Amino acid sequence: MSYFPESEPCLCGSGARYAKCCLPLHQGQAAATPEALMRSRYVAFVLELADYLKATWHPSTRPATLSLDNSPDWASLNILDSHEDGNQGLVHFRALYRVGNGWGYLEEKSDFLKEDGRWYYLQGETSEGQLKPGRNDRCPCGSGKKYKACCL
Ligand SMILES: [Zn+2]
Ligand SMILES: [Zn+2]
Repeated sequence: MSYFPESEPCLCGSGARYAKCCLPLHQGQAAATPEALMRSRYVAFVLELADYLKATWHPSTRPATLSLDNSPDWASLNILDSHEDGNQGLVHFRALYRVGNGWGYLEEKSDFLKEDGRWYYLQGETSEGQLKPGRNDRCPCGSGKKYKACCL
């Protein structure tokens, strides 16, 4: 488990400080939307908060053990789409990570379920691949700068 300063911009890329974004969720506050839960789970993967990941995983699909030892070197998160309908939610996202000198991505359409006022991650349809950012694309590191002016 890693420490992340409360006053820094949240790793989920929302633009808000960690203290006003995913930290309260990591401390037990219920996520208001499936997207908020997804963001907080992404940050939990980065910070290796295994207990939080398990607590927000629906019991019917939660893995018995969760090892984050071989996790990718996560760089940034993009929410492509999200919506909720009653107790069901869907979030389509793309998470980028560094591999050697390049970049990879994990894209997932995740299903969320609300029970007793709390959202849980249920399951997802994933695809992975290599990312080849263009010089003028936003840098995959999440800085908000153009790739050519940042990590290229
Ligand atoms: Zn956040
Ligand atoms: Zn960069």
